[in-house]
Amino acid sequence: MITNKDIYASIFDNAIQAIILIDQHGIIRDLNPATEDIFGYVKHELIGQNVSVLMPSPYRDAHDGYIEHYLATGESRVIGIGRELVAQHRDGSVFPIELSVSSTTVDDANFFIGMVDDVSVRKESEYLLNINNKVMRAINAALGGFINANVARKEIFDSLLEKLLDITESKYGFIGEILHKQDQTPYLKTYAITNIAWSHETRKLYKDNVRNGLEFYNLDTLFGITIRTGEVVISNNPATDPRSGGLPKGHPSLNAYLGLPLYSGNKLLGMAGLSNRPGGYDEELADLLKPLLGTIGSLIAGYQNLNSRRKAEQELYRAQTKLRRMATQDPLTGIANRNSLIDQLSDVFERSKQRGDNFTLLFVDIDHFKSTNDSHGHQFGDDVLKQAVAVILENMRPSDIFGRYGGEEFVLGLLDCDAGNAHHRAEGFREAMEKATIDMGDGKVPIRLTISIGVATLDDETSDIDAFINNADQAVYAAKRVGRNCVHSFSRADAQPA
Ligand code: GH3
Ligand code: MG
Ligand code: MG
Repeated sequence: MITNKDIYASIFDNAIQAIILIDQHGIIRDLNPATEDIFGYVKHELIGQNVSVLMPSPYRDAHDGYIEHYLATGESRVIGIGRELVAQHRDGSVFPIELSVSSTTVDDANFFIGMVDDVSVRKESEYLLNINNKVMRAINAALGGFINANVARKEIFDSLLEKLLDITESKYGFIGEILHKQDQTPYLKTYAITNIAWSHETRKLYKDNVRNGLEFYNLDTLFGITIRTGEVVISNNPATDPRSGGLPKGHPSLNAYLGLPLYSGNKLLGMAGLSNRPGGYDEELADLLKPLLGTIGSLIAGYQNLNSRRKAEQELYRAQTKLRRMATQDPLTGIANRNSLIDQLSDVFERSKQRGDNFTLLFVDIDHFKSTNDSHGHQFGDDVLKQAVAVILENMRPSDIFGRYGGEEFVLGLLDCDAGNAHHRAEGFREAMEKATIDMGDGKVPIRLTISIGVATLDDETSDIDAFINNADQAVYAAKRVGRNCVHSFSRADAQPA
C-alpha cells in the first residue's frame, strides 16, 4: 500500500529542482539528489554545513544575517516570494538560479525549505535573444537612416557606434573606413569614435577632426591587425599582449579589446574597435554581431558609391555648364554670342508685341575698325574689341540685352524703351565710347574709338525679329553714310530693300 509519505519521498527524490532543508542556524539538514546534480556535491559533504557554502560572496557572508533578521522581524526578501539569485557550484563557478523558500516549524524549531532551479540555460537564451533583438533593431535603424537621405552619414554611424557599445557593454569604440595612401598602404579614417581625449592636445584633435574623421596611420597596433589581416582580433589583456603596439602616454587604460572587420561581400572596407567590456570579449559575441557588421560594411560601400556617384554628377554638371556656356557665350568678349543674342531678343520681341510694350534695338558698329586692325595688328584688334565691350557694359542697365552680332558689330535690346528715350540712350553709349581711352599696351599711345549706332523701334509693321534687326542694321548704314560717330534712327522712308 502506497502512503502519502512514500509519495512525498518520491517527489523529493525525483524533483528536477534542488530541495534543501536548513535549520534556523542555516545548517543543511537534508537535500535531494537534484541538489547534488545542480551544485556538484555528494550529499554527505553538505549535511551539517552552513547553506552559505552554496552562495558566492558577498551573499555568503551576509546569509546568517538574513535568517536572524527574518526570525526577529518576519520580513523576508525570499521566503514565500521566489527570487532570481546567483549560486556557487562546488567547482567555484557561479550560475543563475531561481530560489523560493518556505518556512515551517516542527516541535517549536524553525526550518526552511529552499527550492532551487538552475536557470543558466534560460538566462543564456534570454541573453542571446536580447542581443539578437538589439542587433536587428540597430540594422533596421541604420538602413532606415541610409534610405532617408535627410539623415547625415555621421548621425547614422554615431548611432551605430552607440548601439555597438550598448550591445557589447563596451566603454569606448570606433567605426572607420579603411582607405589607402598613394603608395597603397592602408590607414583608418573614423566615421564615429568615442571621445576619449585625455589632454588639452587630444581634446583639440578630437574637436577639430571628429566631423571629417580622425585618421590613424600607425598599424603597428591591435586595430592595425584587423586592417592588415581582415580578421577578428580579441585581446583580453592588451597591456601584456605582444601584438599591441602600446598606447600613447595618457591614453585611458585598455582592459579588453575587440577588433571587428567590416566587409561588403569579400571586400574589407572598414573595421570597428571596441574596448573595456567588463569580463572581456569572446568569439561568441563577435559571431552574434555578424549580421550588424555585415550591414555596416554594406553601408560603407553604399556611401562610397554615393560619393563616387556624386563626384560623377558634379563632373557632368560642370561639363554641361561649360557646354551651355560655349553654346551661348562669345569666347572673345564673354558676352552673348549671336545665337544666344537672337534667342533673347526674339523672346522679348514676342512678349512686347503681344503686350504692346515698347522695345528698341541699337545696332552698334565700330567705325573704321579695319584700319585699327591694319595699323595695330589683329591681336590688338581683339583687345580693342574687349575694351569696347567693357565701355558698353559699364553704361548698360540690368534689363538691357547685349550680344555680339558679328565681327565688330553688337546689338543692344532696350526693354520698355520708346523712340525718344532710345535715341537718348544711344547718344549716351556713343559719347561714352568717344571719351574712352583705349589702352594699347605698355608704352603705346592710347587710341580713341568711335561707334555708329542704328536705332529701330518696334512698330506694327515689324513682322519678326530678323526684320527688326535688319531695320536697325539699315539705320547704322545710314549713320555711316552721314559721317560715322553718330546715332541714326530707322525710318521706313529711308529703308532700302534688304
Ligand atoms: P566702317 O566704319 O564702315 O564700319 O568700317 P570698318 O572697317 O569698321 O568696317 P568693315 O566691315 O570694312 O571691317 C570690319 C573689320 O573688322 C574687318 C575685320 O578685320 C575686323 N574684324 C572682325 N571681327 C574681328 C575680330 O574678331 N578681331 C579682330 N581683330 N578684327 C575683327
Ligand atoms: Mg561692320
Ligand atoms: Mg565697322
